[in-house]
Amino acid sequence: MTVTRFAPSPTGYIHVGNLRTALMNFLIARKAGGTFILRIDDTDPERSKEAYVDAIKEDLEWLGLSWDRVERQSLRLERYEAAAQSLRDMGRLYEVFETPVELDLKRKKQLNMGKPPVYDRAGLALSEAEKDALRAERGGYWRFKLDQERIDWSDGIIGDVSIDAASVSDPVLIRADGQMLYTMASVVDDTEMGVTHVVRGADHVTNTATQIQIIQALGGTVPSFAHHSLLTGPQGEALSKRLGTLALRDLRAQGVEPMALLSLMARLGSSDPMELRQEMAELIEGFEIGHFGTAPTKFDVADLGPLTAKYLHGLPYAEVAEEIAALGVPADQAEAFWSVIHENIEVRKDIATWWSLITEGAEPVIDAEDADFVAEALALLPAGELTGESWGLWTAAVKDATGRKGRGLFMPLRKALTGMAHGPDMAALLPLLQVIKARA
Ligand code: GLU
Repeated sequence: MTVTRFAPSPTGYIHVGNLRTALMNFLIARKAGGTFILRIDDTDPERSKEAYVDAIKEDLEWLGLSWDRVERQSLRLERYEAAAQSLRDMGRLYEVFETPVELDLKRKKQLNMGKPPVYDRAGLALSEAEKDALRAERGGYWRFKLDQERIDWSDGIIGDVSIDAASVSDPVLIRADGQMLYTMASVVDDTEMGVTHVVRGADHVTNTATQIQIIQALGGTVPSFAHHSLLTGPQGEALSKRLGTLALRDLRAQGVEPMALLSLMARLGSSDPMELRQEMAELIEGFEIGHFGTAPTKFDVADLGPLTAKYLHGLPYAEVAEEIAALGVPADQAEAFWSVIHENIEVRKDIATWWSLITEGAEPVIDAEDADFVAEALALLPAGELTGESWGLWTAAVKDATGRKGRGLFMPLRKALTGMAHGPDMAALLPLLQVIKARA
């Protein structure tokens, strides 16, 4: 049974970078008919905020990335404590006392001597008496003792990875104040929750190496790992600083449609072409984690506008019927209304804008040189019910009366009636224009 998880820390709003991770894990679980866990990594009580937990759920719900259950690390602290104790009992967790400044100094010395800046395990050499003295003076914290051998795994995206554990510092698992750090909590959860596939950013590759050893030490089953490349801006520039402006809630506020965003993110950086999907099921069906590449993936937020418009243009009436009814569009005009405007909207709220234009009229745009022409034309509007034929009859009559034709004839009329130089087919729009209907 496939089990995946999306494990955000509730320390901020989630953005497109997080979405890449969430979506991949979601799609893998759904494609396999497995379980997708939303795991809230909230072991840091100072930075974790309940408001962000709510916001993360709201953002995922908006996108339709439904989870099967929620887990909270803050409720599982005793599990991490128990695992830490077994590691201590095996001699794999040892207490250390260096301050950040001392560590920095050590690193500089190592680099000066041309050595890799790997923690020197000085803590392992301390006697009990020395530890007691240090504990009295400053807090001790805890590192996992890596087996200094190569750590290998077959990565779902990168392929074969081999990392020499001797080139990696023993990871800190517990802080001096007792706070369990991410690595400890994450491996215990992945093991105890039966997580089978972990997809996360390439910035986690070294973590994965150390986590594999911890999982093995705890007797757990090592999941399959896949590390996706990080997103960059359109010019290849690092996105990390701009991610704050790419929060999912901001994209939502801008009118981005979930399926437009998901369709893009499910294929960006993969060898499969981007295909705009109308349904989540198609996205799940067409997802292949193995088709993603390792090169940094360019993301351009400007792509979301046209994709959103294209998605909306392709929406069948049935999917918007309720929304259209809620605007007060009479049932006998609703479908015609959608078919007239659907290719002329860029975001969903344009539907309401078009309806108010139809019912309340637009602010006419009449160029000075067209003022007489428009006045003359409006006087010629056919009386009675406006139908699909009315536009043709009217413009023919206007042409006869004024001698204008082509663009010089049609454009001033469009601008006078809709306030815009572009929009739906006027012949189809005219019968809906209630303001004109009401004129007689
Ligand atoms: N909370 C971690 C993060 O947001 C989770 C990483 C992981 O997937 O293991 O980076």
